[in-house]
Amino acid sequence: MPGTQPIIPLSLSELPSKPRTHGLRRTSVATELGGARTAPVPVAWEDGKATDFVLDNGMEVVVIPNHRAPIVSHMVWYKIGSADEPPGKSGIAHFFEHLMFKATTNHAAGEFDRAVFEIGGSQNAFTSSDYTAFYQTVAPSALELMMSFEADRMRNLILTDDVVKTERDVVIEERRSSTDTNPQDVLHEEIDATLWQNQPYRIPIIGWMQEIEQLNRVDATAFYEKYYWPNNSVLIVAGDVEPETVKVLAEKTYGKVARGPDLPPRIRPVEPEQNTRRTVTLSDARVSVPSFSTQWVVPSYHTAKPGEAEALDLLSEILGGGNRSRLYQASLSSKVSLPAPAPISRAPCSTTPGSPSMARRAAMPSWPISKRRPLPKSLALPRMVSAARNWARPRSALCAI
Ligand SMILES: [Zn+2]
Repeated sequence: MPGTQPIIPLSLSELPSKPRTHGLRRTSVATELGGARTAPVPVAWEDGKATDFVLDNGMEVVVIPNHRAPIVSHMVWYKIGSADEPPGKSGIAHFFEHLMFKATTNHAAGEFDRAVFEIGGSQNAFTSSDYTAFYQTVAPSALELMMSFEADRMRNLILTDDVVKTERDVVIEERRSSTDTNPQDVLHEEIDATLWQNQPYRIPIIGWMQEIEQLNRVDATAFYEKYYWPNNSVLIVAGDVEPETVKVLAEKTYGKVARGPDLPPRIRPVEPEQNTRRTVTLSDARVSVPSFSTQWVVPSYHTAKPGEAEALDLLSEILGGGNRSRLYQASLSSKVSLPAPAPISRAPCSTTPGSPSMARRAAMPSWPISKRRPLPKSLALPRMVSAARNWARPRSALCAI
């Protein structure tokens, strides 16, 4: 197409995994799989092979064809998360995720939801430290409609004092009900606030209550004007669709949105070397099963030397990835009664160092790391041991009980 960059194949392994997020908890309708195909599918594009291109207004587009079911996932990811929030405005990224479901100059509040549900689709959104994303899962024939709604709310939201105040109360209640009443979530917040000494990751994604309460229309408008532009977003379409079709529809919808001002570089301060061992303890009468975790700051996939992050993930899996893990087996042989395997978690695609934890908890799922990213053949046990010695130092551990 004239004026646009050529489609470039991407490797699936370059796509991000999913670290901790704070999602908008909404009731969704089960997606109907019986939607009609829009056209016979040519075999030009291999299933699962990602391609990408950029619209004239700077919006990046990634397409991942997959024709196993007549369904398509449409997502818009904004390069803005809680770690980008200005001081004193914690929670505004997540708060704005909520506001994106309000009325625009073209559609009433709730109209987008109804349009999705009436065709048997589902939609939702989530906010993380580094991004905010919105998605719908629908029949391929509805893709253009989804793009039209999403492109509209990118720039045409109506933000009045009443709209902002009402939704702020919703977020305040969300924090009360989902975090403040859950001892495990309270402990997680304290762990993050203690583990990170210089990173914005120490601030909860949903925000501190006293700062959520102060967010207002001026804050929301400034946030919208700064970050919600096509040149600060990535469109991802996966499913029963071809890149050429997505390109035509994206230019027809998102392509009409003007490019925004260039954004300043995202700031992620460098974490100082941590040389003290710290302990966070939470006592709560509601907790009947005690838990214990140990956490270290280690390199992420973006900051690690080649093979180092993979080695740490593999080490995590061996130590605590399931019923066959070393920690779980050791607990059985020592006849210590444990309600669940030791789970390990990491934020592997963070733009800064990640935070793995080795934990004993009840009912926490393990994360099958081996399925997420293929390991290089050169990765061997000595490398894992070396990585462990480098990073899992007792003197820099954070224990949470
Ligand atoms: Zn929410």
